[in-house]
Amino acid sequence: MFSIRYNRQTNHIAGIAAKCTSSGEEKGGVVVDYAENACGVLTRGRLAQGKSYESLEEALEAARKTGGRKVCKTCEKAALAAIEAIAAATPVEPAKPEVVEGAEHQVGDKLYFLPGERPHGYVCPAGEVEVVRVVDHGEHRRFGTERFTYVVQVPGISATRQGTDRTELHKLGSVPVDYRFQETYISAICARCGEAPAYANTKIIEEPIKHEGKVYPGMCTIKQSRVCYDDCI
Ligand SMILES: [Zn+2]
Ligand SMILES: [Zn+2]
Repeated sequence: MFSIRYNRQTNHIAGIAAKCTSSGEEKGGVVVDYAENACGVLTRGRLAQGKSYESLEEALEAARKTGGRKVCKTCEKAALAAIEAIAAATPVEPAKPEVVEGAEHQVGDKLYFLPGERPHGYVCPAGEVEVVRVVDHGEHRRFGTERFTYVVQVPGISATRQGTDRTELHKLGSVPVDYRFQETYISAICARCGEAPAYANTKIIEEPIKHEGKVYPGMCTIKQSRVCYDDCI
């Protein structure tokens, strides 16, 4: 709880030190629990008791204008440092993308993009993509359009972002043959089972090579093999 304490011309903010355990030293030397100590007026002065506030932001806002008085610069500095320290100490949880009810794919799904015949071409090349947004157009959509639009991109490359729908997206491991794109019909040899799936339906796996003794520059330390996308053995 933070409260305004005031005299004729100045509003002070009480309660900052009690609220904040961080030293605040990393914030350019402004020590957070300095408020009650550094602002001598709070401890020694004769001050009238003003209103109390749950949040420091509110208290600071009020201190800046209440009663036509000015906010004490020392208290203001401490309040700002405390607000920053509190924000820095609060762990920011990465925003979890919402699950779109009924959609075939969700944000984060990795799929294979094979564009249909598009009059205006496409930005994202055929190949592995990641879903970054799912749009639900609801029940009442234009004739011939799909209910869900997926915004996809090559993983990590947002310049390739574009909209598509389920007709252009395929499960990795079961990408159909499309003679416009050779990865879908030229076959590789799986290093695990010896079958010959199309390149589009394979992946590279890595395993470390263990060396006895010293490892010199130029020596291989990982072994890569191309295998069926789905577990084949
Ligand atoms: Zn003060
Ligand atoms: Zn295989």
